[in-house]
Amino acid sequence: EGENSSPHIVIVPTPGIGHLIPLVEFAKRILEISPFQISFVVPTQGPPTQHQRSVLAALPEERVTSTFLPPINLDNEVPPNAKIETIICLTLARSLPALRDHLSGLQGSQHNLVALVVDLFATDAFDVGLEFGMKLYLFFTSSGMCLSFLLHLPQLDAQVSCEFRDMHEPVQLPGCTPIHGKDLVDSVQDRTDDAYKWLLHHCKRYKLAEGILVNSFNEMEEGALKILSNHESHTPIIYPVGPLVQTRLGDDEKVDGSDCLKWLDEQPWGSVLFVSFGSGGTLSYNQIIELAHGLEMSRQKFLWVLRSPNDEAFNATYFSVESDHNNPTKFLPKGFLDRTKEQGLVIPMWAPQIKVLSNAAIGGFLSHCGWNSILESVVNGVPLIAWPLYAEQKMNTIMLIEGMNVAIRPNVGEKGLISRGEIAKIVKGLMESEESKTIRNRMNDLKDAATRVVGKDGSSTKALYEVVRKWTPH
Ligand code: UDP
Repeated sequence: EGENSSPHIVIVPTPGIGHLIPLVEFAKRILEISPFQISFVVPTQGPPTQHQRSVLAALPEERVTSTFLPPINLDNEVPPNAKIETIICLTLARSLPALRDHLSGLQGSQHNLVALVVDLFATDAFDVGLEFGMKLYLFFTSSGMCLSFLLHLPQLDAQVSCEFRDMHEPVQLPGCTPIHGKDLVDSVQDRTDDAYKWLLHHCKRYKLAEGILVNSFNEMEEGALKILSNHESHTPIIYPVGPLVQTRLGDDEKVDGSDCLKWLDEQPWGSVLFVSFGSGGTLSYNQIIELAHGLEMSRQKFLWVLRSPNDEAFNATYFSVESDHNNPTKFLPKGFLDRTKEQGLVIPMWAPQIKVLSNAAIGGFLSHCGWNSILESVVNGVPLIAWPLYAEQKMNTIMLIEGMNVAIRPNVGEKGLISRGEIAKIVKGLMESEESKTIRNRMNDLKDAATRVVGKDGSSTKALYEVVRKWTPH
């Protein structure tokens, strides 16, 4: 049955754009080196966003189909303050019947379903994959260190009875920088919250996978990945396949914020600091004011992707930036845009980040340290100012600063606010100090390594071939 059609891979992402982008890049690489067909099956809580559509539209129609499953309405099921992890995981769980129907349809039309690749919050789909006799794989969209932590979480959960932030000793993961409880991923910060239960549930299921593909590479996290890849026991085989970063956005397509590229072309080499907090990141009103003054005081050139303030959450636009209908520039200090019109550019909501980072005018990146942003910075050799907001970003920051020495970070003051003076100091520190040469050089070394590993004989390319071989029916 289905013997004649080429092997078919099904990929199940979760709704966030930061998870969809690397999975789409992964699909592109797989298509390059195999004859496989691919189906993206995307759980949703509402109408698909323009971003989701355009990211998926970059895949070749002849070999890839994309399906948005019917939206799941959780209004009566979760409290308004439910964490994003809870919403993501529940959406996925409620989408399983639709996923099952979809796979039946594919099988019914003679598709040879070989492997199921799921996002880190989507292991519930494994049950459905098994019903269709598929091989189960996980695609991990963050660091090897974070993966190592999540694989260890079930054990930590069993051993530790207090909140992790109250532990006296840092968590020492094999091959990684020690990490304090308070810097672990957000969703383990309150063990009574549903978000924690969901995360633990998925982590316990990681071992059901035959393999885990991780969007990282050995030179970036030598210790962590070497140990993960060495596992002799039955834990899944770990394949470092990164950095998979967004390629080609289609130049003809009008991308949001693309006017900034023209502005960048007119700026001196390495002179501009890019300021952006990923797809979901938002700041409080007071923090926006401090950041504006700090950038102005630093006298460094900047390109700032600005969103409306949110005083409750750091991830207010996670599911869609399109949900913010304000013009965020009205929240800036009075006269700011006028005074800085020679110094910088503010763009509302969204920038074509990958194109920005590869522009020669960019000399630094003030980032929330989402994993994709970090990889995109590495690929372009751009050193970082780390400004973590949510999810595993604090962990990423520790790794960048203590483990890799490619970033610096501002001191956080009272009530979690970073002051204008501190911002001005750290920005100057990155853009013009002598000390920053070390981290710039280190970033350039990583950039070279990043190019090598995805090259013809590179380790990440080899790992992808290995996976394709496992998926090829014999
Ligand atoms: N991104 C972008 N323009 C923006 C903000 C984000 O192109 O204005 C892209 C960015 O290049 C990255 C992804 O969205 O590929 C964000 O992923 P990341 O892991 O950095 O952060 P998340 O948004 O998941 O927190």
